[in-house]
Amino acid sequence: MLQLRPTFSESWYRVAALKPKLRAGAQISRQFYRGDRWYVVRDPAGNQFHRLSDPAYRFVGLLNGKRSVEQAWDLVGGQLEDDAPTQPEVIQILSQLYSANLLETDITPDATVLLRRHKKMVERKLQGRLMNVLFPRWGFWDPDKFLKHWLPVMQTLFSWAGAVVWLLVVGLALSLVLPDWTRLKAATEHAFDLQGNWENLFWLYGVFVFVKVIHELGHAFACRRFGGECHELGVMLLVFMPCPYVDASTAWGFPSKWQRIFVGSAGMIVELFFASFCGIAWHFVDDAAYPILSQLLYNALFIASVSTLIFNANPLLRYDGYYILSDALEIPNLRQKSTEYALGLIKRHIFRVKATQPLPPWGQRIWLFLYAVASSIYRVFIGIMIVVLVAFKVPILGVLMAIGGAVTWAVVPVYKVTKYLLLDPELHRKRTRAMLFSGAVAAALVLGFGVIKFPRHVEFNGVVLPANPVTDGRQISGMLTTRGAGRLVEILAQDHQYVEKGQLLVHLEDPELTCKAREDQAELNAALARATRDAFTDLNAFQADQAYAKAYREALERDEKQLAELDVRAPFAGVLIAPKIEQFQDNLIPRGTTLGQVAVLDKLEVRGNIEQTDYELLFNNKATTEALKPEIRLVSNQARILKGGELTPLPAATDQLAHPAIGTPGGGTIQVDPRDPHGRRARQPELEVRIQLPNDTRITPGQRAYVRVTIDRTPYLYEWTRRFLQLISSHDTGKWL
Ligand SMILES: [Zn+2]
Repeated sequence: MLQLRPTFSESWYRVAALKPKLRAGAQISRQFYRGDRWYVVRDPAGNQFHRLSDPAYRFVGLLNGKRSVEQAWDLVGGQLEDDAPTQPEVIQILSQLYSANLLETDITPDATVLLRRHKKMVERKLQGRLMNVLFPRWGFWDPDKFLKHWLPVMQTLFSWAGAVVWLLVVGLALSLVLPDWTRLKAATEHAFDLQGNWENLFWLYGVFVFVKVIHELGHAFACRRFGGECHELGVMLLVFMPCPYVDASTAWGFPSKWQRIFVGSAGMIVELFFASFCGIAWHFVDDAAYPILSQLLYNALFIASVSTLIFNANPLLRYDGYYILSDALEIPNLRQKSTEYALGLIKRHIFRVKATQPLPPWGQRIWLFLYAVASSIYRVFIGIMIVVLVAFKVPILGVLMAIGGAVTWAVVPVYKVTKYLLLDPELHRKRTRAMLFSGAVAAALVLGFGVIKFPRHVEFNGVVLPANPVTDGRQISGMLTTRGAGRLVEILAQDHQYVEKGQLLVHLEDPELTCKAREDQAELNAALARATRDAFTDLNAFQADQAYAKAYREALERDEKQLAELDVRAPFAGVLIAPKIEQFQDNLIPRGTTLGQVAVLDKLEVRGNIEQTDYELLFNNKATTEALKPEIRLVSNQARILKGGELTPLPAATDQLAHPAIGTPGGGTIQVDPRDPHGRRARQPELEVRIQLPNDTRITPGQRAYVRVTIDRTPYLYEWTRRFLQLISSHDTGKWL
């Protein structure tokens, strides 16, 4: 590989006379990276590691505190030998070691290059202190004796035979647990049911600590296995949550990268092993008989498998997976280097700044680039997820975190970029170009998110229902319910037939009632006949006859009313929907039986519930001048967009949903009060809206639909802010904490 390496540096005179030497405590070990020999210099106090190339090491080895930098450089080959460090490289090595506090020297005022690095080191120290405040750790146990004692046992596990056993156990656990998918799903829902099962949070945390102790001991044993030492096991605060840690950093000095990778993976290896045992046990434990045991086993299974794979194995987070990847790719400080490389691409190719440091080898560049892209996307994504999630649960904390996020992702980068563009010496003569490009990018961002208006929508769930006629603001029910009991003797209409209002559909017969009506009729006739006879002869008898007649007339009227109730008629004009009506033929039908319904099918109606804020946007928005045109997608056919008629709101807020299907138990999105057995009472007052939907394509009513209404056009930034605030207020339960 041919790289342009300038031999001389104009800053050389500042360091040439220094007489530094490596600090006494610095430890040096040898490693092989990509076939080259490297030296790792380790400062035991700060746990910092620095890799030196072979020539760089030869140079550093010559620094004994008496020799000047100039003399050492001459000795190592200086300008003569090809692989000897050049002057700029020497300066870089010195400042690197110096900033890591690995070098003893008196700084001359002239050594400004080093001083600049020194200033950065102070900043880094402050950062380190801040990290100590945010993530404090207390080591309280030296596990070395314990590790030594048990190492023979663990060593058998960390062997090829152990690997086979591991695979068998994990395989068995997977084959037992995964097919039990429904139980697994139910257990997951139960374990994280914050309302019904909040005690489990404590169980989860207890199990978490236990599992993490196992994890950390896995690292420690693996480290010991290859001769590394481990003298500290303790507790650290991770996001205010105490959890165990082990200091196995001696493994970083292992010469073989496979050993380092094994130590890094050992935590997960033992955790997955443990998870498998818990999974197998969970499979055989009866939930009902041993609820707590089953819960604990499930917790351990979940934490030691899912959470471990999501957090520990993930190379985009700074846990085990990151160090494993960094070792596997043989790129130390992967994150920092990838950022530097990605920024370097912009600097070199767009700003046309010349590279001051040697570029990473070709084989690494693609990895550095991919890692930089993946980790930036991931960090922003996770950040937003966390803010939204926290805002959902604890609004005020969510707002604070959102402000923090805006500062770290917007204000700080803008400040840094501005400072770089205005002041950084490396932009000398390229400044205008860099500023123009950065300005263009900034303008594009501002235009895209803050100025250009994109359509804004309100979305909600609805249910498609027949548009039955309305009286007094309420829909007439089309249900055909019997109002009397009797034998069904006649069906006068067919399923899917069009029927007129009042048309007789079904006739029931009640022989007893018919008989009684005949008797009452006969009695009435007799009383009337007697009355005609007595009218001119016996006034008292006439009055009695008339009373009889009145009583029987009333009885007969009641009979007739009851007889009429045996008829089932169409409440309004529409289509008869009664697919099972034939089954009722000749059966005795009790009162209150639903035989079918009449529905207006040529006109449908979509009913849904929306939140107060959406209501304001839809109906009290001055920007909305045109009529709102809802787009409706049916659950049964989401690809097709139906054009709905005008959107009409019902005047008052209610806690009753338009239909149970809109609530979460019915598959919809609105949170329902769990105490309501019908699943119709919303947690928050909602407003009902209705949309006319002409049914020219034979849509089946009763299904759920997604409704989207375009309100107006707004830049994305406003819309996202609005949605975020809406999220907060919609789950605001009165208290903000
Ligand atoms: Zn770990």
